[in-house]
Amino acid sequence: MRLAIVSDVHANLEALTAVLREFDRHAVDRVISLGDAVGYHANPNECVDLLAGAGALTIAGNHDRAAVGAIEPDEFGSVARHAVLWTRRALLPEHQERLRELGVFARLDERVCVVHAALHPTPNDRYHLSTAARIAASFAVLRFGDESARVCFYGHTHVARVHRHDDDHARALASKGVPRRVTLDDGYYLVNPGSVGQPRDGDDRASFAIFDDRSFDVEFFRVAYDRERCLRKAAAHGLLGDRRPAWRRALSRFARH
Ligand code: ZN
Repeated sequence: MRLAIVSDVHANLEALTAVLREFDRHAVDRVISLGDAVGYHANPNECVDLLAGAGALTIAGNHDRAAVGAIEPDEFGSVARHAVLWTRRALLPEHQERLRELGVFARLDERVCVVHAALHPTPNDRYHLSTAARIAASFAVLRFGDESARVCFYGHTHVARVHRHDDDHARALASKGVPRRVTLDDGYYLVNPGSVGQPRDGDDRASFAIFDDRSFDVEFFRVAYDRERCLRKAAAHGLLGDRRPAWRRALSRFARH
């Protein structure tokens, strides 16, 4: 099967729509969502609905759980916290119900699992896998934990990465970013498809991956979408905050055209 792996859609309808459109072209059999369907942007209901309509296997991220009151956004930054409070008001009951049912971890089969943030100390939606120590700790769980597997797809950092662990150490497969395509061999892997709705690697295009669960090939994709439209809606709801110069710069750039 060809599995489309998406993460961190963050209520960005324009990005999600552009990504879903790509799936037909790439003969995707199934969609897997690694969480944070909502938060930051202005279309949480539409995004939850579209993922459900696509039959996606979905786990929850910290924004999803905060949006339904399962956690409080105490550790969130001000823009994220504001997005949680806005999303709580905007989310329809049926979508709240959907998000409330999700766990933060799932197994696809005996070799592959998915988690929103990290596997250590137990699978969670909290710890960014952005330091060598944390990556090593999650690899230990992947290799020796109760739910051991060969490959874990994760999100939360909003940056596409492939980390491989052989007998004694872990390394990223590229010094920056990801290879366009990689075949996962008999090492252990932590793979992040990047973020659909809010990439944090300097490339604004939506990011996702396609994983072939027979060949173990992973291909990474970037897709352009109508970002101006998305940002305008977010701004209209006060979701961009006023301490994000990058966002403000992006908006004023659009305003000039
Ligand atoms: Zn996120």
